[in-house]
Amino acid sequence: MSVEKIKEIIKKCLKETPCEVSFFYNEPLKYHTTFKVGGSVDCLLSPKGDGFRAFCINILNTCRAHNVPVFILGGGANIVVSDKGIRGIALDMSEWKGKLQSQREFFAKKNEIIFKSGTSIDEAVNTACAEGLSGIEFLAGMPGTVGGAVWMNARCYESEAADVFGWAEVIFCEHELKSRYTVHKVEKNAADFAYKQSPFQKMDCVIISASFRLKKGDKEEMLNNIKKYREDREKKGHYRFPSAGSAFKNNRDFGKPTGQIIDELGLKGRQVGGAQIAPFHGNIIINTGNACANDIRALVDETALEVKKKTGFILEPEILFVGEW
Ligand SMILES: Cc1cc2nc3c(=O)[nH]c(=O)nc-3n(C[C@H](O)[C@H](O)[C@H](O)COP(=O)(O)OP(=O)(O)OC[C@H]3O[C@@H](n4cnc5c(N)ncnc54)[C@H](O)[C@@H]3O)c2cc1C
Repeated sequence: MSVEKIKEIIKKCLKETPCEVSFFYNEPLKYHTTFKVGGSVDCLLSPKGDGFRAFCINILNTCRAHNVPVFILGGGANIVVSDKGIRGIALDMSEWKGKLQSQREFFAKKNEIIFKSGTSIDEAVNTACAEGLSGIEFLAGMPGTVGGAVWMNARCYESEAADVFGWAEVIFCEHELKSRYTVHKVEKNAADFAYKQSPFQKMDCVIISASFRLKKGDKEEMLNNIKKYREDREKKGHYRFPSAGSAFKNNRDFGKPTGQIIDELGLKGRQVGGAQIAPFHGNIIINTGNACANDIRALVDETALEVKKKTGFILEPEILFVGEW
């Protein structure tokens, strides 16, 4: 598939369903991910504003009809994009941001707040707090978007996105029925969520907005908690180097956090090329400056192998490897 084909598709979709978009061809994804590695995507497409839904539906259906792959990009905070990059389109949600105003009073009465999926997690936390709504403070300081947090069922400080998630508006295609992409509302069903799992991972879908069901809170207390979480992340070195947070999932069966297992095996500081197990945290792999995606992948594989050899535990990566490997 050629970039020319993608250009034709975008031109056609914009004509049929006008929308404010920016698009870049052969765009290096290291500029759009927190690990700051990865090759280029054929086209990075960032829609926003009026016509967003119709345009996204049209792009998804047209790409499907022409076998052009589409990758959904949030804040790029949980992914390692391969050095060869991503073929097709990366539909970047990060420009589709802010609180959704529709039916405002109805939802305000229910202490429910709705965000466009590209809203940064920090902005969502700040907005909820400004409205005196409490419950998502635990996510303060976590990089990424609302859509990514819901898709990943992001978790920290003993809470997870599913605890406060209400429903999501998604553009969804049910392949078994050979259907086209259409908009659906997905209500929370607690049984569909588990550790780092959400129902969206099993669907071919784009989350376009998500609601959080919160409760009235004391603003000062909320601000103090938000500050505490942000400071804790700073203290733990989360922002010192490019990374994607925890490299591996935790597993209760191990009896201790994965970072501790890696630490006890003396693996902190181990390096492959420019990728390193953070000297200050066993479960964070960092880009020391000149890492490539292959370095990170090799270090993840090496670490998992070493842990298996020495302890028998099988580590599962939490970071997602995307693109052509
Ligand atoms: C310093 C640091 C600390 C971190 N700490 C934590 C932590 O404490 N807990 C934790 O859980 N994670 C943590 N992370 C990882 C990351 O912040 C979260 O996983 C976050 O939720 C990812 O969101 P994102 O928008 O960046 O998703 P991306 O990385 O862009 O995407 C992740 C996956 O979600 C999909 N996706 C994204 N948006 C959408 C959408 N709108 N519709 C459909 N699919 C979508 C993508 O296709 C991809 O498969 C950390 C990362 C960093 C860099």
